[in-house]
Amino acid sequence: MICNLFLPAIVEFSITKPLRRIRLGNIPASLLRRAAYRPANSHSEMKKLIILFTLLAAGFFALAKWSPKTVERIMFWKRTAPQIVSPQNLPEPAPALSASKPEEDAVPPAPSADARVVVDKTAQVVVLLYHRIEPSAQTAGDLNVSPEVFEQHMQRLKDEGISVISMSDFLAWRRGEKSIPSRSAIITIDDGYVSAFDTARPILKKFGYPWTYFIYTKYVGSGGKSITWEQLGQLRDEGVEIGCHTVSHQDLRDPRGKTPEAYEQWLRDEIAGSKTIIEQHLGIRCTAFAYPFGGWNSRIVQIVREAGYAAAFTVYGQRITHSAPSEKIGRYAWSSRRPQDIELALKFIGPLSSTEPGPTPPPSSATANTLLTQPLDGETIADPQPTLKVNLSQIEGIEPSSVSVRLSGIGLVPHKYDSSTHLLESRPPEPLTPGEYTVTISGKAGSKRVETRWRFTIAQKTASGP
Ligand SMILES: [Zn+2]
Repeated sequence: MICNLFLPAIVEFSITKPLRRIRLGNIPASLLRRAAYRPANSHSEMKKLIILFTLLAAGFFALAKWSPKTVERIMFWKRTAPQIVSPQNLPEPAPALSASKPEEDAVPPAPSADARVVVDKTAQVVVLLYHRIEPSAQTAGDLNVSPEVFEQHMQRLKDEGISVISMSDFLAWRRGEKSIPSRSAIITIDDGYVSAFDTARPILKKFGYPWTYFIYTKYVGSGGKSITWEQLGQLRDEGVEIGCHTVSHQDLRDPRGKTPEAYEQWLRDEIAGSKTIIEQHLGIRCTAFAYPFGGWNSRIVQIVREAGYAAAFTVYGQRITHSAPSEKIGRYAWSSRRPQDIELALKFIGPLSSTEPGPTPPPSSATANTLLTQPLDGETIADPQPTLKVNLSQIEGIEPSSVSVRLSGIGLVPHKYDSSTHLLESRPPEPLTPGEYTVTISGKAGSKRVETRWRFTIAQKTASGP
């Protein structure tokens, strides 16, 4: 990257200019003319030419040793392919990542056609759905799958040559930004049972499979077999994508005696409200939704769309094509009463999704699991000593040792930065007083200084009554 930026400068100043100077200054014009029009028959002219070419050759070899790429460029006039920055890697909407540009920064070359992503629109995707993954002796429900059977399914996918892809990759494929293998699968686990964390997670890790966890917010942290927000944060940090499965997990089609207005408000709370809860707790953008019991109607679909989800999932298993409607993506649910259903997915022989053109998925730029910041930009929190988190994967090439974290009114605060996950964590050493704070993360990426910042507020302690 640095090399590319500076190459034109190197060529300009190290090669072209000295060459011009030699041509115009050091070689007498008469000599050049003579060398061009007739063989050098004079002994002294021959000598001068030999010295000149020896010097040129020596210079060239020295350059070749110092920068072979420069020589390659000069020799073949090779243009470096421009780097494609897909919008999903762009920082959006917060924090705004900015790279301060040095003066010599060249105008980026226009993308060439051959560097564009060719998306395989004939690829197909099966989506698997599990709920609990517990030993059969422990749980009798239809929706429970034993760890052994679950692991067999994961192995089957591998044996069948079906590639497990992440939700983000699926959505990027739908947007035409990324290709996926022709036979792909997405693994989803619904509801928020802790067995996803305790039991499925190690198995999925073993296979290196990405997965998506659809949770309903009321259940999180409610005790028993429920997952906690803390565990969800850990999953997020490990790259698991968290999807939304409403607040209360009731069938959205059933108004349960509510007035039309109350039903409408309730739908919004369940669909959009739960999205906000997850996003605020985890500092992510939640782009995938799963209908409880797979149930939807046209009004529900409309609210899902308005809430900004890029995809919504039902339970009717299908092979998903590129043009399948994004708000009714079928999943193959495991049920011990109907094990044949998931067989269709594992054999990749289920029905094809309808190809009726659905509305174009919203041009969502952040991936489902992109950690923006924690706390979110502009968020008001109660904890006076919060753990600050940000994913720096959007700053390409940031040097881990150059990273620093500053807090307005405080100064430098200690941090941990994991360069493999790009996750930066920091905690103020002392509790903060109520008020607004700006977090500034800075560092170096090659020759550039890079910086990102966001703000949060520590709430005033609510005054207790007299
Ligand atoms: Zn569910």
